[in-house]
Order: sequence, then C-alpha cells, then structure tokens
Amino acid sequence: MNNHADTLKKPISIRLKITLWYTTALIAMALFTGFAIFFAGNQILQKTIRDNLIETVEHNVDEIEFFGAWEELEQTKDVDQFVRYGSGYLEIDDDFLDQVNEVYTALYREDITLLYGENPISKETAGLPLQDSLIQRTTVAGTVYYIFDRELTGEGLEGLWLRGVVSEQQGVSQMSDMLQFSLVFLPALVLLAVGGGYLIARRMLRPIQQLSETAEQIQKGGDLKKRIELDPGKDELHQLADRFNAMFARLDEAFASERQFVSDASHELRTPTSVILAQCEFSLEEPRSGQEYEKALCTIQRQGRKMSRLIRDMLDVTRLETRADSYVREPLDLEELVDSLCEDMALIREKGITLEWQTQKASCLGNRSLLTRLLSNLISNAYRYGRENGHIRVCLRRREDRVELTVEDDGIGISAEDQDKIFRRFYQADPSRAGTGTGLGLSMAAEIAQIHGGRLFVESELGKGSKFTFSMEALDGAVFP
Ligand code: ADP
Repeated sequence: MNNHADTLKKPISIRLKITLWYTTALIAMALFTGFAIFFAGNQILQKTIRDNLIETVEHNVDEIEFFGAWEELEQTKDVDQFVRYGSGYLEIDDDFLDQVNEVYTALYREDITLLYGENPISKETAGLPLQDSLIQRTTVAGTVYYIFDRELTGEGLEGLWLRGVVSEQQGVSQMSDMLQFSLVFLPALVLLAVGGGYLIARRMLRPIQQLSETAEQIQKGGDLKKRIELDPGKDELHQLADRFNAMFARLDEAFASERQFVSDASHELRTPTSVILAQCEFSLEEPRSGQEYEKALCTIQRQGRKMSRLIRDMLDVTRLETRADSYVREPLDLEELVDSLCEDMALIREKGITLEWQTQKASCLGNRSLLTRLLSNLISNAYRYGRENGHIRVCLRRREDRVELTVEDDGIGISAEDQDKIFRRFYQADPSRAGTGTGLGLSMAAEIAQIHGGRLFVESELGKGSKFTFSMEALDGAVFP
C-alpha cells in the first residue's frame, strides 16, 4: 500500500533539491551574519560610547581655571563664563563641552552639589560616590547610563570634580537602525539569490531534460541514428551528452555489424543449401544410375561439410566476440606453443609446401587455445594460398618489450586493395581459390589479437607472397616447468 503511494508521489527534481539546499544554507548564513553584526556592533558601540565619554570629560578638565580675585579674571582677554568658588572665581572656557554627542559634563563640589553644567540624571546620581577616572554604570527608568568622574587638580581647584554622563540609548538607536536595515536587506538578498539560483539551475539542467527526451525517443522509435543536440558548450553535461552520443554511435555500429553478420551468414549458407536441395530433387525426380546417385551424394556430402565448417566458424566468431572477457589469460611459453604447433602442421605438406620455423625464448600473458587458433589459422591460409612446392616460414622473436610472431609464404599474395578487407568477416579476395575456407579465419585471428591487446597486420605483394605479423606485450620473468 505504502509502496504504491510512494510511486504515485512526484519525485523531487534535482533543480528543486539544489534550490532547497542552498536556500537553507543562505538563510542560515543570513541569520548568522545578522547575529554577528548585532553582537559585534553592540560591543563596538558600547566601547565607542565609553571612549567618547572619557575623551569629552578629559577635554573639559583643561577648560576650567581658578582666579583668586575679580581683577585677575578681568585681565584675561575675554571672560566666557564664570562661577564663584570659595574666595575666588572659576573661569569656564568657551571650549568647555557641556553637552556634546549626548555626553553631558557638569562641575561638582566634593559633596556632589552642582556648580556648573547639566546632568540629565542629576537626582538619581546624587548618591553615587565620586570616583576618580572610573566608569560607573547605572540604570534609570530602564535606560543604562555610564558615568565618568574626574577630580580636578591645580591651584584653587581642590575639591572640584567633573562628572560626565552618557546614556546607552543613543547607541541602541543606532543599533536598531542597523538591525532594521539587516532585517529588510538580508531577506531581500536571500530572495534574490534563491530566485536567481533557481533560474540558473533550471537553465543549466535543461540539457539533462534534452538527454532524457532523446533517450526516450530512441527507446520508443528504436532509431539509433538519433543524437542529443545541445547548444554549444563544454561543461560536464555537454561531455555527458557527447559520451551518450558516442555510445549511441557504438551501439548503432554494433547492431549494423550484427545485421550484416546475419545477412552474410544466411547468404553463405544459401549456396550449399540450394546445391543440396537441387541434388536431392535431381535424385528423386526419376530413377538414376548408381553412378549418378554416387555423384549426387558426393556433392551433398561436400556441401554438407562446407555448411558444417561455416556453422562451426560462425559459432566460434560469435563466441569470441560475446565472451571476450571470459577468456583467461595466463603466463604462456610461446616458444613451446609455436614449436609444437609447427611440428604438427609441418606434416600437412599440402602442394609439396615445406614449413620451416625459428623460435626464441618468449613468453606472454595469453590464452593458449586462442593463440593456437590464431597461429593455426595463419599457417592454414599460408598452405591454402601458397604455391606448389613453396615455403612457409614461421618466426617467433623478442622485440624490445614485445613478442613478434610472423608467418610468411611465397604464395599468390594479396592486392593492396584487398589487404584492408581480408580481416572482415566472410571476405574472400578470390572465392574460387578459397577451397575449404569460410572467410572467417582472419577476422577470428584479428579478434584474438585484440583480446590480447595485440596487433595483427599484413604485408603482401600480389604474386610474390604474404607476411602476417602478430605482436603483443611480452612477459618477463615467467618460469615454466
Ligand atoms: P578463408 O577461409 O577464405 O581463408 P580468411 O579470413 O582466413 O578466410 O581469409 C580471408 C581472405 O584473405 C582469403 O579468402 C584470401 O583471399 C585472403 N588470404 C588470407 N591469407 C592469405 C595468404 N596467406 N595469402 C593470400 N591470400 C590470403
């Protein structure tokens, strides 16, 4: 029941997943930044407020002067403000900052009675003892105030204090401005990033959509010629599309070659089948002489053998191609393999041809039965296309880090034009001379070379002979009993 419900649910798209992920990350980041701004800003502001308070009071210390008599006071160029104090006068300079940046500075007697200036929380701080160069903190009606006292020194200034007061309110209002700004600005930024990101993700993931649509079209229509076409670009998705296209091309090729094989195979089998059927019809049509029956039976037997060879070779070729990975490769004494196979094949002596061989110590990582098949195919061809009383030379040698096996004959040779084609399945340069050949031997040999990571190629001249070379990586240090 549950499973059914799950399958009905629309899966979350990658686009949405990406958007959700970074939206969460962005919100977390915005919150973190907001808090960081608030806390760090608060700290800095508080310090600034206090520094400001100290600075203002310290500045004001120098702006107060004592004069013992009125005449002395009058002698100064311009008297700004003065208050009587003890037996003389206190001159308060114009530069005295009694209220600046919300900092209030007032002049006090030792018993905390106000002489000059203003203190917004005068009453509330009346009981607060004067403490020289120390910041005190007090809360009045929910507002935090900082108080800084400074004792005056100098002639006639004994018993005088400056008291500076500042409220935290000023800083808080600046902070709240900043917070309000952050509250609008950060969510707006998050929204912008989410919207923009969603559009970019949609645009960037569009190729995947195209890819999936093309794959679906191919699956439905079976047309492997279709390719994924994207706008120009070189990102990972374009690379993916290129790989898919390469895969479609490869599949197309494989299917085409498969179709070709089936068509070639049926074509090859058609001739012997028609001959057999014709011979049967001929024999059954009316009574024939013993000789005629014998001739017909011989033809049927020859064609039957041909079909049997064809079927065997076709099975071998398909097996090689479809099970290329399943052939075990192990350390192989190639010298022993070539020697023993040549010894056996030298006995054929077809058309008076002699087989000579020359080997060196050489080993490789290979499959014994496949490499035997490769060499025996090459030697059989050398016999089949060799000339009367000709020669076949087989040679095995080490070439740097490779082993090289050559089979050379002095037979009919292969034209330059045919040299490329003879490795194709069923290709025969001259079918009339192929005798028992099926046209599959060389394609099988080439497949075996490929399975071994090796190369098989031909050098030949028409009328003079051919030389087939197989080379593959050598194996060093293998010990054979
Ligand atoms: P086949 O069974 O016909 O020999 P192969 O695949 O072994 O098939 O060879 C393909 C064709 O290549 C042959 O039909 C022949 O025309 C040509 N060929 C192969 N080996 C030789 C050779 N040693 N000398 C001349 N022609 C050769």
